Amino acid sequence: MKLGVLGGFGLAAPRIMVRAAHAEVPMSEVENPGFYRFKLGEFEVTSILDGLRPGDGPHPTFGADQSPENVAELLEQNFLPAGRFVNSFTPVLVNTGAELILFDTGLGAGAREGGMGRLRARIEASGYGPDDVSVVVVTHFHGDHIGGLMEDGQPAFANARYVTGQAEYDFWTAEERLSGATENAARAVQANVVPLAEKTTFIGDGDEVVTGVTGILAAGHTPGHMIFRLESGGRSLVLTADTANHYVASLQRPDWHVAFDADKEAAAATRKQVFDMIASERIPFIGYHMPFPAVGYAEKLDVGYRFVPVSYQLML
Ligand SMILES: [Zn+2]
Repeated sequence: MKLGVLGGFGLAAPRIMVRAAHAEVPMSEVENPGFYRFKLGEFEVTSILDGLRPGDGPHPTFGADQSPENVAELLEQNFLPAGRFVNSFTPVLVNTGAELILFDTGLGAGAREGGMGRLRARIEASGYGPDDVSVVVVTHFHGDHIGGLMEDGQPAFANARYVTGQAEYDFWTAEERLSGATENAARAVQANVVPLAEKTTFIGDGDEVVTGVTGILAAGHTPGHMIFRLESGGRSLVLTADTANHYVASLQRPDWHVAFDADKEAAAATRKQVFDMIASERIPFIGYHMPFPAVGYAEKLDVGYRFVPVSYQLML
């Protein structure tokens, strides 16, 4: 009796449905173009996804000084799994009308096989070419920010000049960085940043890149880490770079230690200072490792901040 019923279903209608779904409508392999664009006053701002990197965590990278249970509880409250996360990398292109400024360069060619290092292709998908970039700003010298400066041993943005923090350059090019814990990162700086030094303007806290783009020293993540405030037509936006690197763990618990931060306490103090400013001014920000398109607001909570992803605010 039971077998008869199953047999009846098995031999008739379902077979036809299965064939139709699999053979006649193949899945699309067309990818999302990987950029997000809006106007900020007279500026055009484009956030570009260099790639995604799934991995284990966020603990102990985030909440390095916390128990795994503590971190898991916060993540689960926020509908996130405790054992896996996806890191994302988001350089930003700003057309001021006079200059095409690229902030950070992604992981570069070495990461392309793993599906990252896609900045160049996606600049093109967004309507520009790498040769159109006139200024490259580097927020700090970690590999996911400087990896795309060179392409086949040549400058990847052939017509660009460069702007970066003096403190960052001085730290990474000091002789003693070439051994010990900083060795690999310092070698990447020697390969990708130092050859461009003659075309680089070194800035400090409060210096302008161009009119309407101001650098702010936000040290802690690295000794010379800089963020950038954009102002145009009465509107403001902050590029927070790596001030906060996980939209829940770093923003809701800004004091938690993060393995990537060179000075854990200074990084936490800077996080609170920067996001207090963004929350109290109620202005949007783009965080390099926020979930794509990486644009949002920060709402101040009793402890920390809630990341509020942008919806239509910047279309108006
Ligand atoms: Zn980074």
